[in-house]
Amino acid sequence: ADRADVIDGEAVAAQVRETVAETVERLQSAGVTPGLATVLMSDDPASETYVRMKQRDCADVGIESRHVELDTDAPQSELFETIEELNDDPAIDGILIQRPLTDSVDEPAALRRVDPAKDVDGFHPENVGRLVTGDPRFVPCTPLGIQRLLVEAGVELPGADVVVVGRSELVGKPLANLLLNRGDDADATVTVCHSKTDDLAAHTARADVVVVAAGVPELVTGEMLSSGSTVIDVGINAVGEGDDRKLIGDVDYESASQVVDAITPVPGGVGPMTRAMLLKNTVQAAARQADVELET
Ligand code: NDP
Repeated sequence: ADRADVIDGEAVAAQVRETVAETVERLQSAGVTPGLATVLMSDDPASETYVRMKQRDCADVGIESRHVELDTDAPQSELFETIEELNDDPAIDGILIQRPLTDSVDEPAALRRVDPAKDVDGFHPENVGRLVTGDPRFVPCTPLGIQRLLVEAGVELPGADVVVVGRSELVGKPLANLLLNRGDDADATVTVCHSKTDDLAAHTARADVVVVAAGVPELVTGEMLSSGSTVIDVGINAVGEGDDRKLIGDVDYESASQVVDAITPVPGGVGPMTRAMLLKNTVQAAARQADVELET
């Protein structure tokens, strides 16, 4: 049998969704219906699936969603106009630009056009800057979900040695900043590793918490980990063909779960949390814009 506890992301995500649904009800009694706009400008079938999932998640908790789909050969100006319209639309509280956008548009420029007060993905440079300076408004959904999982798993973050494997703008960097900030659910000592890190195993082996977001199947194995640690596996890698096709993480679950104290599964760990946190950010955007006070 495995020695590690399994951290159930589906269960924690269900709790988050329940709280969000209650918040939506409170907002509605104050006359506010939260609204999320999704913008798709890509032929990528995975992106289409993600957008559909996000809309369904919204419907489940009472958030209205509006979807705008642009032809991939439309001029960039059309995308920018769409964003401006959504920025100005009082029924829209959150705007999500589904990435990757088609190659012909300047993605960073598009993300900069989103009203920072509606930037529920937390990718606008103003929101990135606020996170880094310790005054966060919207934090990207995956790091936010990981922090919540660690808290729910009973990890004492203040003073913990956290090793983050991966330095992407989407996961690694914002997570490192979030856990480095001051606060009861933070105050960690954070090390960020990447592909040029000299001796990855030396870092992961001495950590209390290891978060792996590298996009490399089973990069981190049990041998690189220690007992007493908690492992969060962010990776989603499709391997195999046909009936053998399955999703695996960036951690070798078999060997890691023999060594560590607690670990997230793939699927069913970080993925559901990312989706739930988008809903949470959207209701917070609605509350702020309507000037309604919420308990967090
Ligand atoms: P990126 O490809 O943007 O970043 C990967 C990072 O890992 C880079 O910083 C890279 O280093 C580092 N890295 C790559 N190989 C190694 C190695 N051998 N040793 C140490 N570090 C390494 O990926 P993302 O952050 O966007 O995503 C990471 C994974 O998480 C993917 O599998 C993705 O599918 C998944 N994901 C899951 C989400 C969820 O909700 N569960 C949400 C977002 C992503 P360098 O910078 O030097 O290249």
